[in-house]
Amino acid sequence: MKEILFRLVKAAGGFALARGRTQRDLRILAYHGVWTTPGFQYGDRLFIPPQQFEQRMAWLKRSRYPVLPLGEALARLATQTLPDNAVVITIDDGWRSTYTHMLPVLESLGLPATAYVTTWYVVNRAPVLNVALNYVLQRAPNKRFEWESPVAGRLAVDLSSEAARERALSALGAALDQLPSLDDRLREFREICRLAAVPTEPWWSEGQFHLMTFAELRDASARGLDIQLHTHRHRNVANQNFVLGRELADNRAVLSEACAGGAELGHFCYPSGIVDRRAAAVLAAAGIRSAATCEIGLNPPSTDPYALRRFLDGRSVGPTGFEAYLSGASDMLDKARALLPRFARRPG
Ligand SMILES: [Zn+2]
Repeated sequence: MKEILFRLVKAAGGFALARGRTQRDLRILAYHGVWTTPGFQYGDRLFIPPQQFEQRMAWLKRSRYPVLPLGEALARLATQTLPDNAVVITIDDGWRSTYTHMLPVLESLGLPATAYVTTWYVVNRAPVLNVALNYVLQRAPNKRFEWESPVAGRLAVDLSSEAARERALSALGAALDQLPSLDDRLREFREICRLAAVPTEPWWSEGQFHLMTFAELRDASARGLDIQLHTHRHRNVANQNFVLGRELADNRAVLSEACAGGAELGHFCYPSGIVDRRAAAVLAAAGIRSAATCEIGLNPPSTDPYALRRFLDGRSVGPTGFEAYLSGASDMLDKARALLPRFARRPG
């Protein structure tokens, strides 16, 4: 639907117009990983098909949108010396497929990118449990089962509707979190997979839900992937400055060991993109110069560097929708839409 609207806007010259009007604004693309498991496709904006990532990057390379490293782009945004319509590529979390599938594409095209890496699952080797659990519950053939939690007791699981599944996800997630060790959590998670009748292979062994290993992270950094901060435990740090400070320190301890040549860890991405403007003081004290959100939009020269806007690309985003963001047309349309109700309310 949106794709059709964008095609019309493009055909009418709207993209070219928007590109001119927004030429000084920085565009920031956001990705996570790619989906390599056969069958059920999980996570529209979390995992995109590998071919889609390749096509997007190849298109960018051929396009009139110059791709810059994050640090250089932000410095030049502040001094208004960016090339027109400049783009930065960011990749969140540090999924294993970022290393196995995305990095080789970026390398072959010579495109710079920044990966915001959360490190608890780099150090503790296991699938990222809350994400893998969501996947298992979404594709479960068994819509009702009972799981006996060693801590929380018997839990009746109902996956018969989306709302019920959301409740089951938070109840099971909380019950797994109560277990004393990661081994306990993994054993019980396997039991939930069995009860839901979801096989754990090939995705478990192939690392669909794993982050990079420490060695892979180090290799990615050595090969030129810019590694930056994303908290250690991927915790929502909004309004929790104490937690944010500790999360940054723990995250930095792992990343600084993995990063080649003591590369500077001066950029941050809010976990799940949840913004907290009060975090600025903590970020500044930790020597962090920018923070990325999941708020959609372009970044004009006046942008608050602790509230960078991005565009989260996804499987459901068509090629014209992707270009609509880069051209600035979708941003201009969003702003125009936001003005409409105000005019409508005006009397007479
Ligand atoms: Zn994240």
